Amino acid sequence: MAIEKKKFAIDEKVERLCSACDTESEHSVMTVTKLGQITKLMCDVCSTVSTFKSGVKTSVGMTTKAGSPYDRTRKYRKGQAMMHSTFGQGEVTAVIEPQKIDVLFGDQVRRLIHAQA
Ligand SMILES: [Zn+2]
Repeated sequence: MAIEKKKFAIDEKVERLCSACDTESEHSVMTVTKLGQITKLMCDVCSTVSTFKSGVKTSVGMTTKAGSPYDRTRKYRKGQAMMHSTFGQGEVTAVIEPQKIDVLFGDQVRRLIHAQA
């Protein structure tokens, strides 16, 4: 039995989480594949364009927020978001030692220091 997937059409409106607005907002479908899968969306609120690759779902969690810039003197907790100047948006996945944290950037975990007075 074939799995039925919803097909989308250009200019269709869909509710998607906008990473710029940080909320579910209405998006316009800009481009779709032959199979009707969305490849490009534009947020109607802030005009941010998001692209999708088939089969690749970016792990945008419910709690994802644009983190404040990474600061090694700051103490981080698990689940905290940050913006790293080199690696971009990240989220603390674990506190390894009092001064070491694992942070997930995209699909890569990097070990950073924190709480460095
Ligand atoms: Zn937006």
